[in-house]
Amino acid sequence: MDLFEYQAKELFAKHGVPTTPGRVTDTAADARAIAEEIGKPVMIKAQVKVGGRGKAGGVKYAATPDDAQSHADNILGLDIKGHVVKKLLVAEASDIAEEYYISFLLDRANRTYLAMCSVEGGMEIEEVAATKPDRLAKIAVDAVKGVDLAFAREIAEKGHLPAEVLDAAAVTIQKLWEVFVAEDALLVEVNPLVRTPNDEILALDGKVTLDENAEFRQAGHAEFADVDATDPLELKAKENDLNYVKLDGQVGIIGNGAGLVMSTLDVVAYAGENHGGVKPANFLDIGGGASADVMAAGLDVILGDEQVKSVFVNVFGGITACDAVANGIVGALAKLGDSASKPLVVRLDGNKVEEGRTILAEANHPLVTLAETMDEGADKAAELASK
Ligand code: GDP
Ligand code: MN
Repeated sequence: MDLFEYQAKELFAKHGVPTTPGRVTDTAADARAIAEEIGKPVMIKAQVKVGGRGKAGGVKYAATPDDAQSHADNILGLDIKGHVVKKLLVAEASDIAEEYYISFLLDRANRTYLAMCSVEGGMEIEEVAATKPDRLAKIAVDAVKGVDLAFAREIAEKGHLPAEVLDAAAVTIQKLWEVFVAEDALLVEVNPLVRTPNDEILALDGKVTLDENAEFRQAGHAEFADVDATDPLELKAKENDLNYVKLDGQVGIIGNGAGLVMSTLDVVAYAGENHGGVKPANFLDIGGGASADVMAAGLDVILGDEQVKSVFVNVFGGITACDAVANGIVGALAKLGDSASKPLVVRLDGNKVEEGRTILAEANHPLVTLAETMDEGADKAAELASK
């Protein structure tokens, strides 16, 4: 998950990385009020998850609260590389003597962590890498040893930061490593890391990517989720701990196991070619436990998608046997009542398949059609969706 600059700076502040005071808002009037509160010139900064905001007119200096309001007015609603600005960071403006670059990231190709540091900050780092590669230091970081103060100083030195600021920069670089580790980040980048006229070091920008696989031990990170930008069905699925991805088609898909669900998507897309080009509407893996609750939650999410015309339930019974799945389906339909309004094609195979089919046959629900094979089920579901 990528964070907004203001969220990255919240994490910086938590770990003692020096930055400028400020607050986020979504109105120009409030931007003025924050500028008044700060009582000094401020920067008005577009909060979008894309780089190069400065060049696109999304970062402006405001000497007075009046200026703050008018810049905020102009920047709100601005389209920066396809991202519409809805929030602004109003931060105290800092005097800048020099701009540096520092980042920590996961270097997958070399199976290590990597520090990158350069005295040539401010501009796009890709450009530095391309035009002056010797000015951009790339230093592997041992995951076990990490970054202590001495190593942080070495990173700054290799990035050609001037001798006078090496000590101060080392302190900040070491704290940025702390952010990287403690917050389970995949990327922590500061561009520019500035030197002020009094030789202080400040993080004036911040880009952080958090590792979503570490969500289970980072309870505090849930608040960073950009709820506005998330599909409402995916949000609902997430609340129910379902592995759901919305797609664009008409055939809802429920399966168990990511591999089976992926191949179900392929088979349905293929079958759809014979039925007016209908396509899968989603990916949904209900995993091992196909209880009535999980099945009901999954069906509920899928049926909430207005584009869905039919649903294909494709389950291979393993540890959770087909009879349990069949009971789950019957229970889910009872639970959903009238809100289950679209035809369901069910294909069961594997452990206790006969028992499962018998349960469904006896329930004889008007919306349910049984299929013997995956191909047959996909074809039937596609046909129902095309009607
Ligand atoms: P980006 O363009 O999306 O990377 O946004 P940044 O936050 O890095 O801002 C772009 C540029 O605006 C920086 O490289 C600085 O030159 C300038 N800038 C940002 N904050 C300040 C500030 O507090 N004072 C001054 N003088 N310039 C700033
Ligand atoms: Mn920047």
